[in-house]
Amino acid sequence: MPKQKAPKKQLKSYKLNHINRTIQEGDAVLMRSSEPGKPSYVARIEAIETGARGSHARVRVRWYYRPEESIGGRRQFHGAKEVFLSDHYDLQSADTIQGKCKVHSFSSYTKLDSVRNDDFFCRFEYNSATGAFNPDRVAVFCKCEMPYNPDDLMVQCEDCSEWFHPSCIGTTIEAAKKLDHFYCQECSPEQQDLDNSNSTSKKSDDKVKTKRSLEVTKTRNKHTKRSG
Ligand SMILES: [Zn+2]
Ligand SMILES: [Zn+2]
Repeated sequence: MPKQKAPKKQLKSYKLNHINRTIQEGDAVLMRSSEPGKPSYVARIEAIETGARGSHARVRVRWYYRPEESIGGRRQFHGAKEVFLSDHYDLQSADTIQGKCKVHSFSSYTKLDSVRNDDFFCRFEYNSATGAFNPDRVAVFCKCEMPYNPDDLMVQCEDCSEWFHPSCIGTTIEAAKKLDHFYCQECSPEQQDLDNSNSTSKKSDDKVKTKRSLEVTKTRNKHTKRSG
């Protein structure tokens, strides 16, 4: 039987002495960027390995991309702490791990009482070669037909349950926070004067809402297709 080269050891978990934390498969971590001054990379640990004698710990990671790093770039609806789970894998020295972080689902992120530095959220998977997102459509809200950015305050109409940006209904964030009740233009005819400056044509017989969505992958083709 031929002798094998020094085998790599796969580890379930590994203690990082330089940050005094133990990492394991599935953990999200911050990794030192190769470009000085750039924010840390966010990655998910897929596997941990060392040389046969336990030296040179390396992690197999799956990168999270920030919106800036995607082909389409950062868009208005992207949150400050949004990352995309990419199909881009790498083998990195465990020394480059700067700390652990938490990548929440979109819905659990929106329920956080406070967002800490190490909190992120992910609602899309991202194909780094084509720039395609999965899911490739996302629900839109408000008159501006934008996907929800969890950094932006929105107010909900008590009648139709649609969400609106304060600026899109002619008010301010401060004023919107003080509203006890809110009815949108379509549900509250007497409020229509508020919005004279907005020239967007509106169909009042369009109250039966179709599920509206935005195609997120094709950045040049923003119009929404309605099914049915
Ligand atoms: Zn809006
Ligand atoms: Zn309404």
